[in-house]
Amino acid sequence: MVTIKTFVFNPFQVNTYLLVNERNEGLLIDAANYTREEDAVLTEYLEKYNIKLTHHLLTHAHVDHILGAAYLEKQFGLLPVTHSKSLMFLESAKEYGSVFGLQVQPVTNPVSFLDDGEDFLFGNIEIKALHCPGHADGSLCYYLKNENILFSGDVLFAESIGRTDLPTGNMNVLLSSIREKLFVLPEETKVYPGHGEPTTIGHEQKHNPFL
Ligand SMILES: [Zn+2]
Ligand SMILES: [Zn+2]
Repeated sequence: MVTIKTFVFNPFQVNTYLLVNERNEGLLIDAANYTREEDAVLTEYLEKYNIKLTHHLLTHAHVDHILGAAYLEKQFGLLPVTHSKSLMFLESAKEYGSVFGLQVQPVTNPVSFLDDGEDFLFGNIEIKALHCPGHADGSLCYYLKNENILFSGDVLFAESIGRTDLPTGNMNVLLSSIREKLFVLPEETKVYPGHGEPTTIGHEQKHNPFL
C-alpha cells in the first residue's frame, strides 16, 4: 500500500509527488521546491508525519523538475536517480535555468541510473522505469503495477502531451513512446503527470486530442 501526497512547487507549477510506503519511508518524484518557503513546506511535512526520505527519482532533468535536488542532497544526503541520458540536462541546468530567470544550485551527478524496463523495490512496492523519449531525452515514467499507478512526468498530461520544441524534443518519438509504453497499460491505470491534474490511461486513450 502506497500513499501519495502532491506538492505543487515553483513558478512552473511542477507536481512533486511524495510516496510513502508501509515502513513510513518516503520517495520523492521530481523534488521541485525552489524557495525557502517551499523547502520548509516539504521538510515540515516529513517531520510532522515522521517520514524518512530514502529515494529521489527524476522523471527527467528539465530545470523546473530539479530545482529541489540540491536541497535534498544537502539536507538528506540524497542524490537523484534517473536515466543516464538526463545527465546532459543536469550538467547544463545552471545555464539553462538563467534563460528562465531561475537560479539553479548545482546538483552532484547521480551515481545510479535506471534503464528502460528496470524495476526496483521501495518497501513492498515494485516500481518499474519506462523510458519514454520525445519530450526530453532520458524521460522516465514510473509504473507501480500492483497499485495501478503511473507517474508520467512531462510525457503525458490530462488531455495533452509534453512540448517537443526544446532540445532533444521530437513529436513522432513522443507519440510512439506514449502509444508503445503507456497505452499498453491497463485502462484503469491512474496517471499522475508532472503538471496539472491526474487522469487515467483509458481517459487519455479516448479523449487525448494529440493521439
Ligand atoms: Zn519537461
Ligand atoms: Zn515540466
